[in-house]
Amino acid sequence: MTPNTDGRHRARKRFGQNFLVREDIIHAIIQAVNATPSDRVVEIGPGLGALTDHLLKAAGALDVIEIDRDLAARLYQRQEPQLTVHETDVLKVDFQSFLPDAEKLRIVGNLPYNISTPLLLKLAKDHERVQDLHVMLQLEVVDRLVATSGSKTFGRLSVMMQSVFSIEQILSVPPDAFKPAPKVQSAVARLTPRAEVPSRPQLAALEAATRLAFGNKRKTLRNNFKQTLSESELTDLDVNPNARAETLSLDAFHRLAGAIVRKTNP
Ligand code: SAM
Repeated sequence: MTPNTDGRHRARKRFGQNFLVREDIIHAIIQAVNATPSDRVVEIGPGLGALTDHLLKAAGALDVIEIDRDLAARLYQRQEPQLTVHETDVLKVDFQSFLPDAEKLRIVGNLPYNISTPLLLKLAKDHERVQDLHVMLQLEVVDRLVATSGSKTFGRLSVMMQSVFSIEQILSVPPDAFKPAPKVQSAVARLTPRAEVPSRPQLAALEAATRLAFGNKRKTLRNNFKQTLSESELTDLDVNPNARAETLSLDAFHRLAGAIVRKTNP
């Protein structure tokens, strides 16, 4: 644990607790979210409430998901009728059935960095429930989210997330915006589900295709797909067997996923 951040709560490293303290950054995030009373807003990891109060004011009602018992208890103690505290691990939340009275959720969070990738992939699967996401992440993760084919950072996360969401970086955030300050740069991204999103089986096949394609980054696609698709099958899909995964377009990954679906359900 690091020293007290507000005189009472000690930031817990295992929960990725870096609390936002810079008002200009807090204000910029709240402005970007631009919540209104007709929105159903869910905050992941409210912590000491840097974003919570502003979101509550703008949305009129708010659901928060917090794993840290002490922090959740503080929020309960406020006894705000418009604030609902869910003390749980967000990775265990079934977003398909969460808050069934709402159709779509606006999800906001200064995310604990240690769970950001599994959480993003989980929300991609549950995209039907998502109106949009505004998330603070390590800059390195945002770089991977927005990377285009051919760049060094283009990888599995880029393909999976871009297949479901339009993604934009909306803010760069330096370490001094947090207490305790993290060692890395951060950034806020906005993710909005695309009009046409792959079905769950298609996403599962895309997961398999990206796992194979990026399995060994130094190997060609011919080698990485050896057990699954032959060289001629790759060529028929207009995929160069001698290419490497990071040079493929999103469309090519979707064609590979389609071929895997056809092979598994002939
Ligand atoms: N929103 C606050 C802020 O901006 O100052 C806190 C952000 S802090 C980076 C991450 C928060 O997520 C902490 O409050 C932490 O306890 C909580 N958290 C960590 N892992 C979690 C999990 N698996 N499920 C829900 N909350 C989690």
